[in-house]
Amino acid sequence: MILGEYRAENKNLKGSSSTGHPTSNEGYLNDEIESNRLPLKPAGRYQKTRSTQASPMYILGIETSCDETAAAIVQDGTAVLSSKISSQISIHHPYGGVVPELASRKHIESIVTVVDEAISESGLKKNQIDALAATRGPGLVGALLVGFSFAKAYAYSLDVPLVGVNHLESHINSVFLEPQPPAFPFVALLASGGHTGIYYVTSHTSVELMGQTRDDAAGEAFDKVAKLLGLGYPGGGVIDRLAREGNPQKIVFTRPYLDKSDFDFSFSGIKTAVRHYVDKHPSDDAGQIADIAAGFQAAVVEVLTYKVIHAAQIKDCEHIAVVGGVAANSGLRNSVRRDARGRGLKVHIPSVKLCGDNAAMVAAAGFHHIKAGMQSRLEDDVFSRNTV
Ligand code: ADP
Ligand code: MG
Repeated sequence: MILGEYRAENKNLKGSSSTGHPTSNEGYLNDEIESNRLPLKPAGRYQKTRSTQASPMYILGIETSCDETAAAIVQDGTAVLSSKISSQISIHHPYGGVVPELASRKHIESIVTVVDEAISESGLKKNQIDALAATRGPGLVGALLVGFSFAKAYAYSLDVPLVGVNHLESHINSVFLEPQPPAFPFVALLASGGHTGIYYVTSHTSVELMGQTRDDAAGEAFDKVAKLLGLGYPGGGVIDRLAREGNPQKIVFTRPYLDKSDFDFSFSGIKTAVRHYVDKHPSDDAGQIADIAAGFQAAVVEVLTYKVIHAAQIKDCEHIAVVGGVAANSGLRNSVRRDARGRGLKVHIPSVKLCGDNAAMVAAAGFHHIKAGMQSRLEDDVFSRNTV
């Protein structure tokens, strides 16, 4: 299935073997960004703006890595002046997953409108934009190409720099759009539909992988369980809502990797356990479905919570960030906050609208890359996964 191919592709991140098992903890996201490191343009509006220390820097962010066309204007990497997201859920819903070709076509249809709306809602004029940041990867290549190519042309026409940003780094930088961001170094749990990993973050642009899923991403497990329960796609939100009505102790599902001392995850076993339970106990009873949702969510949340708290303790970090689409989960938000309390740990989880894919986080990450002197070239390409 096409969705499966995309997800499988994105499991093999940089520093991973073909089984998805990390082979290196170093330089995970940074190598990809390093290839962007080039001197800024010798002339252009950005250079002029930058020389005026007091003036704010406005960055237009663009995100098209999967099934959201998004654009945002962010000031100085922290203040969101506008953030527009055109979701394609209704297009992919009948297929039970993202269809890459449809995603690319829809991005092409939406990108101009979404960017125009983001600029007009920000109250800025086009000539006030200092730089562009766009997602380069990982993600669906056809989808990424729409946003990144658009961004190249737009930056060229505005005569401002463009920086290509790693999608995972963007998620991690989403916590800096909130009023009380974490202090470096901190540990981040990134859990989304395509990725699940724990990262040691030492600066806006330096991120080290500590462990990741060996099979399904956490959000992927939510989506697959929702599908087998007949709840549609995507499944995270609906399982979250149903779980509140169910009893999480009634059906206890396996907690893989909970006893392991590393920071890898495995979620396909939980999903299979749910399938076996449903096969053995077929029923349309709403109470049973809610109990299954609650039991499944409790298993995923317990593993994610344990690992991120443990990672913070091992790294002696006071701050924890929880980011990505699954960070919207109410059970996970409560669980990490509850377990951090009493251990002297401070938890940072973005507001729900900044957990899923958005362009504000791209602009936030882009701000720091631009400040560090990174800039993309016209010949730079997108990438589907973090390969070495
Ligand atoms: P991507 O994986 O493409 O980067 P996102 O970061 O937007 O996308 O994450 C989307 C994933 O988040 C989906 O798998 C979705 O089911 C999951 N998700 C969204 N809301 C919730 C929620 N409340 N609980 C659990 N998972 C959620
Ligand atoms: Mg994402």
